[in-house]
Amino acid sequence: MRVDLRSDTVTSPSADMREVMAQAPVGDDVYGEDATVNSLEERIAELFGKEAAVFTPSGSLANQLGIRSLVSPGQELITEENSHIVRAELGAAAVFSGITTRTWRAERGLLRAADAMEIARPNSGPYLVSTAAIAVENTHNFGGGTVQPIAEIAALSKLATESGLTMHLDGARIWNAHIASGVALHEYAKYFDTVSVCLSKGLGAPVGSLLLSTKERIIGARVWRKRYGAGMRQIGILAAAGHFALDTNLGLLADDHRRARFLAQECQRIDASIVNPNHVDTNIVCLDLSQTDLSATEFAEMVKTEGVLISALGPRMVRAVTHLDINDEQINYASEVIKLSLQRAFMSK
Ligand SMILES: *Cc1c(COP(=O)(O)O)cnc(C)c1O
Repeated sequence: MRVDLRSDTVTSPSADMREVMAQAPVGDDVYGEDATVNSLEERIAELFGKEAAVFTPSGSLANQLGIRSLVSPGQELITEENSHIVRAELGAAAVFSGITTRTWRAERGLLRAADAMEIARPNSGPYLVSTAAIAVENTHNFGGGTVQPIAEIAALSKLATESGLTMHLDGARIWNAHIASGVALHEYAKYFDTVSVCLSKGLGAPVGSLLLSTKERIIGARVWRKRYGAGMRQIGILAAAGHFALDTNLGLLADDHRRARFLAQECQRIDASIVNPNHVDTNIVCLDLSQTDLSATEFAEMVKTEGVLISALGPRMVRAVTHLDINDEQINYASEVIKLSLQRAFMSK
């Protein structure tokens, strides 16, 4: 059996999704004439209570378009040190927008308003870099799928606004946060000036993210999207996958969360240091190998020989992510393989 838990990006579009994509009405989106893209942008803007949305080929681009609309060259964005924007977008904010970043550190990426405000330096004059925006990742990917507490988001928004700072939400997996917490999408979004969301993670679309904001900011983001080379033509076939994902797959995230929690509970039975299942909020399970003699890469290689694929994220940290293409049988098999390998690792110590 092959069980690919490296990421929730590895899903393949289902036959039903492909059928909807094949039938989608299309037009030239650079001319604003693709009816399926237009309806998806309107639908998702409305879900999040924002005025407008723009479709992008990747979540990184949606983040970058959002950030550059909030931060001028030479100003800074602050965020948590393991956030996607600083670790996984290859310096894009610096390269393309002249934006510097500074970070605070948070256990599991869990947001505390005070942590962000402690390093914020708005209006620093001609001597220090001025902070212009704060980015929050929800759920927090490298933190282990952590759902950010709405009370902390609200508190941060209040303090940020008082200081003249803007807020960006990296909501690649905001869908997972919504399903896990029951907090409405528009409730999460209302504290942010710009919001990015991904269709190609847990929702299972092959391509697609959106940036959401005011009409004015989205008009500007369309200009920059084209400038970056991401003005696309008959992409209704991609937007149709997004519609399908919202209709059919959003509710299924609860199953991903249940399977992730199960995997964590099973691993914890080998040793309590490996993972705390109560910290598995959504579909991401980070396993701590620091009490073994194995590196993350060695451990990932070990389970790979049994057909189970996981990611080595840190020197002693591996990540397993549940998704649409993983069923109960597969997670049972994967947890047996991972447990056996953990057992061996702890015995040989
Ligand atoms: C996946 C992801 C993105 C966007 O990634 P792309 O691969 O560019 O689509 C952004 N933020 C987070 C937290 C992610 O996990």
